[in-house]
Amino acid sequence: MKIINPATEELVGEVTVDTTEQIKAKYEKLRVGQAAWAVRPLQERLDIIIKFGDIVDTHVDRLANLLTAEMGKPVWQAAGEIKGAKNRIKFLTELAQKTLAEDWVTPDGATKEKITFEPLGVIGNISAWNYPYNVGYNVYLPALVAGNAVLYKPSEYTALTGIEMAKMLWEAGVPQDVFEVVIGGKEAGQTMLDLTLDGYFFTGSYRTGKHIAQTVAHKLVPVGLELGGKDPLYVAEDVADVANVAAAAAEGVFYNTGQSCCAVERIYVNEKVYDAFVESFVEETKKLKKGNPTEEGVWIGPLTRPEQIDVIQQQVNDAESKGAKVLLGGKKMEGKGYYYEPTVVVDVKNDMALMQEESFGPVIGIMKVQDDAEAIRLMNDTEYGLTAAVYTVSKERADGMMQKLNAGTVYWNCCDRVSPYTPWSGRKNSGLGSTLSTIGMRAFVQPKAYHLRG
Ligand code: NAD
Repeated sequence: MKIINPATEELVGEVTVDTTEQIKAKYEKLRVGQAAWAVRPLQERLDIIIKFGDIVDTHVDRLANLLTAEMGKPVWQAAGEIKGAKNRIKFLTELAQKTLAEDWVTPDGATKEKITFEPLGVIGNISAWNYPYNVGYNVYLPALVAGNAVLYKPSEYTALTGIEMAKMLWEAGVPQDVFEVVIGGKEAGQTMLDLTLDGYFFTGSYRTGKHIAQTVAHKLVPVGLELGGKDPLYVAEDVADVANVAAAAAEGVFYNTGQSCCAVERIYVNEKVYDAFVESFVEETKKLKKGNPTEEGVWIGPLTRPEQIDVIQQQVNDAESKGAKVLLGGKKMEGKGYYYEPTVVVDVKNDMALMQEESFGPVIGIMKVQDDAEAIRLMNDTEYGLTAAVYTVSKERADGMMQKLNAGTVYWNCCDRVSPYTPWSGRKNSGLGSTLSTIGMRAFVQPKAYHLRG
């Protein structure tokens, strides 16, 4: 399998795709290793993960350059992502012992009762390319700490990064028969669905997620799905500084060249500040430096997958043909690499593909609304429900709106952010279950109830 640099279209490297037999052999090896891993004290497993964090830290520059070569993320953003291991590990250090400890619910009396949390066993993690470190960390770090073995399939677009992660986990002390990497694309993923894994944890598109959930349903094992979004942001007329809000919104739209599950993909602006907001937003977008993602200060790199350029172009063309206006961009950039101009579209309607389907690129539709009620109605009017953001000076107003928004995560005066301390969960077509937080940690264990006499 060839890995192509999306900025230059040059070959970064080649990897050998695992055969079905090799994938099965890896799985069987994990089955043996998991039993020994699960009986080691939790603190020992945690210490290994802490060491993994230290190893990652010493390689940030090299790993960031590799990630940028593979998927085109601006290198400073790649470095920021890789460092995300630290806060996730800090969270595990603070809360894993407490969350996974046995719970004596009835410590006294003739029949004592307690709950223990046992690992699921050997779990599969089929992963995405857009934040390969973060979405990997969110699954395999708590899963390993809880005593599971992990069969990890990085995306075919970030296979070299996936191999590096495995090497660092092994170096830290995770046994090779407790964590394994599967190299390949759709077929390799499909092979994993045929194995008798004890849980499937997937990050990727709604389409693949639904297919996975349907395919493994008969196994009756836990399935976690972290899927796409069409995340809205609302700007009320009372914001203190429209230009500041426009700058924050532009960052939420264009970070990672728009290829974030929680990227801002729709903006609704109260009519009283609409013109001022649009003007500032266009100015902010013009400031973003485009170019080779290895260059300093570059904000807009290439898209990872060339096919996405057509998806975005179709959305923009469809919107234009129905009366929308492109204020900026609207086309592929000339020259080598899979670049699309940062694009701002106004006069959109909510039923346009641009406002309904995940764009996953540097494009945004901005729509004027009369009041909060109209904003809430439009924000909730999609198949997705990952995040939603409200910008207003009024806490009361924000609270009222956030309660009515049908999304797994809501933001007040911020957007496009993830915390290890809060659950990351999509509603509707954005997912099933949670990662992160103590709730996400419990996704990798199964409870056992003890009723004890004597
Ligand atoms: P994708 O669905 O194309 O692929 C994801 C993974 O599934 C890859 O490893 C791929 O090889 C594998 N796969 C593909 N077909 C398969 C099959 N039939 N059986 C088993 N495995 C199969 O998604 P992608 O392009 O890698 O990622 C982008 C999507 O991920 C976007 O929709 C984005 O919003 C979403 N995402 C969500 C989150 C979240 O936390 N909610 C985070 C990151 C990305």
